[in-house]
Amino acid sequence: MRIEENYSLEKHNTFHLPVKTRWFMEYASEEELGRILRDEYFQECLSLHIGGGSNLLFINDFNGIILHSQIKGITVVEETADSVLLRVGAAEKWDDVVAYAVAQNWGGIENLSLIPGEAGAAAVQNIGAYGAEIKDVIETVETYNQLSFEKRVFTKEECQYGYRNSYFKNEHNDPHIVTYITLRLSKHPQLSIQYGNLKEALASCSELTLQAVRDAVISIRRQKLPDPEELGNAGSFFMNPVIPVAQFEQLKKQYPTIPSYPAGEGLIKVPAGWLIEQCGFKGKSHGQVGVYEKQALVLVNLGDARGHEIALVAESIRTAVKDTFGIEIIPEVKYVG
Ligand SMILES: Cc1cc2nc3c(=O)[nH]c(=O)nc-3n(C[C@H](O)[C@H](O)[C@H](O)COP(=O)(O)OP(=O)(O)OC[C@H]3O[C@@H](n4cnc5c(N)ncnc54)[C@H](O)[C@@H]3O)c2cc1C
Repeated sequence: MRIEENYSLEKHNTFHLPVKTRWFMEYASEEELGRILRDEYFQECLSLHIGGGSNLLFINDFNGIILHSQIKGITVVEETADSVLLRVGAAEKWDDVVAYAVAQNWGGIENLSLIPGEAGAAAVQNIGAYGAEIKDVIETVETYNQLSFEKRVFTKEECQYGYRNSYFKNEHNDPHIVTYITLRLSKHPQLSIQYGNLKEALASCSELTLQAVRDAVISIRRQKLPDPEELGNAGSFFMNPVIPVAQFEQLKKQYPTIPSYPAGEGLIKVPAGWLIEQCGFKGKSHGQVGVYEKQALVLVNLGDARGHEIALVAESIRTAVKDTFGIEIIPEVKYVG
């Protein structure tokens, strides 16, 4: 167990905001986690569990306890002629899990290559990219209840997955810490390359393999998104709004080029990046906060931005989109403090 006081979180958030936490506690097993949670002092404090900090916006220093897992390991717990069941410790870097699966020729998560963060958070967030979501391969999620100290195994259905949403993300009085996730991967993968420009990127590829798909996804992502190591960011700042078809049809009359994707019966998903770009924010900067020049959905820290400054720019974007299109866009990034 590692405990630090007045600890800098600069390396624990991909905006690289220079915030501090009163306490930072890192555990390497469920037993250690249990000891931290049962401590009376812990129970009196404000607390937040983090992964790689790639979806967080710290507005202020954190006056409480930041928890971080060091539970690692990737183990095959079941194997059939068609599939494997992989149990992964929550602290494994997500992209290492993808690289491992692809190297074994097990399919299902190759489209989710290069998404920053840890495996536990990936299951909390229901990460998605290029037409795939982690929920498609999740079998179970193992948790530790922060209040009752009980371990529980959630089935996929109990995780209540939705677009970038899950039972674990919702505000309720039942906080669970993810300790392990189990993924069902296929030994006879069906490649999914219809989404975005994946098909184009693979057009000259002589053999379509999981590795080829992973390489193409990585290459496209590197061209489109800033590397947080070089330019602090948290990926897509807002979720893509889902609106009724009738509202979309009205907008299409005024904006004939508005892009869209079906999002279930009577619903249409509109790319938030396009809406933001139409409002003139793309490539602009406001002090130390920038709107990325290649993707208006990404806010970047140009140097020494503070969390509240990023939040202010996000708010002006949200208001402009609402005033122009009548559409509410909601941050995907979680505000802390
Ligand atoms: C450049 C870039 C590109 C990105 N691209 C994508 C993308 O294509 N698709 C996508 O879906 N996301 C994307 N993201 C967002 C981000 O990578 C994901 O949301 C990721 O899953 C966050 O993981 P993390 O470990 O950094 O979690 P954090 O940001 O640390 O935490 C995220 C949430 O999970 C909770 N949490 C973390 N660990 C645990 C745990 N063990 N138990 C319970 N709760 C926990 C936290 O409290 C918080 O609510 C991108 C981010 C960046 C910076």
